[in-house]
Amino acid sequence: MLALRSQVIWFRRALTRSTSALRTNHCHVAHNIPKRTSAMAQPPHSSQQNVQIPALESPHAGSAIEGSKEKKDKKKGKAGNDTGYPLEIQPRPEFFDHRLKMFDELKAEYDTWVAAQPREEITITMPDGSERKGKSWDTSPMDIAKEVSKSLSERIVIAKVDNALWDLERPLEKNCKLELLDFEHPEGKKVFWHSSAHVLGEAAERHYGCHLCLGPPTEDGFFYEMGIQDRPVSNTDFPALEKISESAIKEKQKFERLVISKEKLLEMFHYNKYKKYLIESKIPDGTSTTVYRCGPMVDLCVGPHIPHTGKIKAFMVTKNSASYFLGKADNDSLQRIYGISFPDKKQLVEYKKFLEEAAKRDHRKIGKDQELFFFNDLSPGSCFFLPHGTRVYNALVELMRSEYFKRGYQEVISPNMYHSKLWETSGHWQNYKDDMFTLDIEKEKWALKPMNCPGHCLIFDSRDRSYRELPIRMAEFGIIHRNEASGALTGLTRVRRFVQDDTHVFCMPSQIEEELNALFNFMEHVYGIFGFDFHLELSTRPDNYLGNLETWNAAEEQLKQALEKQYPGKWELNEGDGAFYGPKIDITLRDSLRRSFQCATIQLDFQLPERFNLKYRGADDAETQKDKEAAVKRPVIIHRAILGSLERFIAIATEHFAGKWPFWLSPRQVIVIPVAAPYKEYASEICSRLSDLGLYADVDNSDNTLPKKIRNGEIAQYNFIIVVGQDELDARSVNVRNRDDIGSKSRSDILLPLDQLIDKLVKLKKSRSLENKLLS
Ligand SMILES: [Zn+2]
Ligand SMILES: [Zn+2]
Repeated sequence: MLALRSQVIWFRRALTRSTSALRTNHCHVAHNIPKRTSAMAQPPHSSQQNVQIPALESPHAGSAIEGSKEKKDKKKGKAGNDTGYPLEIQPRPEFFDHRLKMFDELKAEYDTWVAAQPREEITITMPDGSERKGKSWDTSPMDIAKEVSKSLSERIVIAKVDNALWDLERPLEKNCKLELLDFEHPEGKKVFWHSSAHVLGEAAERHYGCHLCLGPPTEDGFFYEMGIQDRPVSNTDFPALEKISESAIKEKQKFERLVISKEKLLEMFHYNKYKKYLIESKIPDGTSTTVYRCGPMVDLCVGPHIPHTGKIKAFMVTKNSASYFLGKADNDSLQRIYGISFPDKKQLVEYKKFLEEAAKRDHRKIGKDQELFFFNDLSPGSCFFLPHGTRVYNALVELMRSEYFKRGYQEVISPNMYHSKLWETSGHWQNYKDDMFTLDIEKEKWALKPMNCPGHCLIFDSRDRSYRELPIRMAEFGIIHRNEASGALTGLTRVRRFVQDDTHVFCMPSQIEEELNALFNFMEHVYGIFGFDFHLELSTRPDNYLGNLETWNAAEEQLKQALEKQYPGKWELNEGDGAFYGPKIDITLRDSLRRSFQCATIQLDFQLPERFNLKYRGADDAETQKDKEAAVKRPVIIHRAILGSLERFIAIATEHFAGKWPFWLSPRQVIVIPVAAPYKEYASEICSRLSDLGLYADVDNSDNTLPKKIRNGEIAQYNFIIVVGQDELDARSVNVRNRDDIGSKSRSDILLPLDQLIDKLVKLKKSRSLENKLLS
C-alpha cells in the first residue's frame, strides 16, 4: 500500500565550531557593493510549518494510557455495551458475504492456475551469498526460513525477493535473491504495522459496519480511515475495537493474497465509494491488482503482509481524529482511528513508558510550569511569549545572528502586508490564497505574508545587480501568518503566527554546489549545538515540473554531488518527489526520545526568479558592454531554513531537553541563596554582578527556610544554585550546586572564589555547551 523506504541513516557530527572556511566571505562584505547577503523563506506551496508532529501533538500521550487502564476495567464487563452499541453490528452488512463469495470463487480459479505452473528447480541466494534449492511455484520464503532455523522462522515478519517485499508464504517463481526481515528492520516494522491496520479495519467493519478507505502504517503505528454513517467515533469505542481485534489475533487469521482484474475489483467493492474511487483512479483499465483476505475481511491492497494475525502479540487503539477523503476539505469527512502493535508484549510496556515520558516533557506543560508562554482565545494560534520564554526565543535568534555574521549573510527587514498584486506575481494568490489572511484596505485586496520570499525578490530587484555581488544571502526573522483552521491549532507546533530563520540565497547556477556545502556545514553546526541527529533526503523532478529540463538536470546533479561529497552513501533519494519549481533536500532531525521532526529545508527555485523577472549582469557583459540583453542572466533562489519556525523549534527543544535547558539557552541560569538574613546583602551583590554581565540571575531573599529555597531553585530548573553564608562572605567566595551533577547537590566544603565563578559562567554561556559544567 505504501512505498517502503530503505533503512534510514542517522548521523551526528562531532561538535565543531570551526567556520573558518566561511569566514573569508564576510570580509568581502564590507567593501564592494552589497555583497553576500542571505535570507530565506519557505518556497511557495511548502507548508512546512503546518506539518503535524505526531509525538508533540501527544496523540497517544496521557489519554492513551488512561484509555488502557479503562480498558482493563471494562474487559471484565461487556466491552462494547457501555456505549449503548453492540460489540458487533447486527445484522452484519451484506458486503461481508458478497466479498467472501467472490473471493472464494476467484481464489479457486487462481489456485488452479498456480497448480498448473511448472515446478522447476530454482536457486535461492541468501544475503551471505550461500545458495539454497527450491521448486518454482511451490517453495516459499517461509519454507527456506524453517530450513535455516525454527527461531528465525518465528522471528521474521516479511521477505524481500530480488529487493521487492514479498509475503513469507507466497511461493517463489524463479531463481532469486532472498532476504528475511524481522520487526526491528524499518521495512519489517512498516509491514507489521500495515498488517495491524487490517486487523483494526476488520474490527471497525465488524463494530461500525463502516466503509473503509485507507489504512497505512505511520512513524509510530498505523491508522485506518473510514466513512461511518450517523455515528461519531469516541474513545469509549476503543475497548470494543480492541476486543474484536484481539479475537481476530487469537484466530491467527491468514493473510491470503489474490490477483484480481480491475473489473472484478469494481464489482467486489461496489458498495464502497472510496475503494471504488481508488480502483478507478489508480488502476489502469485492463490491468489487475491484488486483494488480501484476512478473516471475514477482504481488502484492496498491494501488500505484502505478515503471514497471519497471530504474529501480533500486543495491540492497542491509541486515538481517533477526523479527516477528509484524500485530505481535501470538499470531500466526505472521514474518521481516523490510530493504533500501535508489537510482536512482543514487553515492547508495548516500553512504549507506554515512552508515552509517559513524552507526556511529562510536553512543551505545553513545561511552558506553563516554567512560565514561558501561553495562548489566549482572543488570538488563537498566536503565542504570547512571557519574559522567560522570550529569553529562550532571543537566545535562538542570537545564535543564528552570530552565525550569519560569520557566514556572510545579510539580515533584512521586509513588510508584513502587501497588495494582492505581489501575490499574483508570486503565484500565491492563485495557489495559496486560502492559507493567507486577506484584508480590505482602501477598497483594494491585501494580505499578510505567509512567506518572506516575494518580499526578498523585491529587495533583490530594487536595483541593478551584477554577477560580482552573487551569492546574496538574504536573511530575515520575518513574522509570518498562515490561516490555519482554529480547530487544528496545537500548542507551539501548529500556530497561525510564527517566525522562521528564513534565508534566500540568490546565486548563479554554477554556485549552487558551493552554497549547498556551506548550508550543510551551517546546519550541522547548529544541530550539533542541540545534540540532534539528522538525516537527509533528496527529492527530484516531479512529472508536473516547470522550467527546462537541462536546468533541472544540472541542478539535480549539483545537489547530488554536494550530498555525496559531504555525506557519502548516507542520504536517500526520493525520485520524482521534488516541488514543481525545483528539487529539494529535506532534513529530518531526531530528538532525545528518538522522535523525528522535519525542521530544516533546502529548496532550489527556478520559478520565482522567472515570475519576478529577476536578473543580474553576467561577466561577459561587464567586460565588453556589448549585447546587453544576451548577457542578462537569471539567478537561482535557494530557500532555506535551519530551525524552521522558531515557535515549533522551541517546542521541539523544550521536549528534547525536558525543560532542563543548557546554560546558554536557559531562561533561569543562576539563583543565589543566602543561608540566613545577614548574608542577604552579599547574595544581592553577587546577583547584580552576574546580571550586569548579561546572565539571568535571581536572588532568593525571602523568609523561606534554606531547604525550601533550594528546593524551589531545583524545581525552577536553575542551572546553578549558589549558596552563601559566613565562610563564603569571609572568603569572597561561593558554594555552587550544579543542577545536572547529583554529587554536588549536598553542600560541599569547597569554596569557589567569586571572581572565578563569574569567569567560568561567562565562558560557559559563550561556549553554548550542552553540558552544564563550569569550564576552567
Ligand atoms: Zn522562500
Ligand atoms: Zn494491506
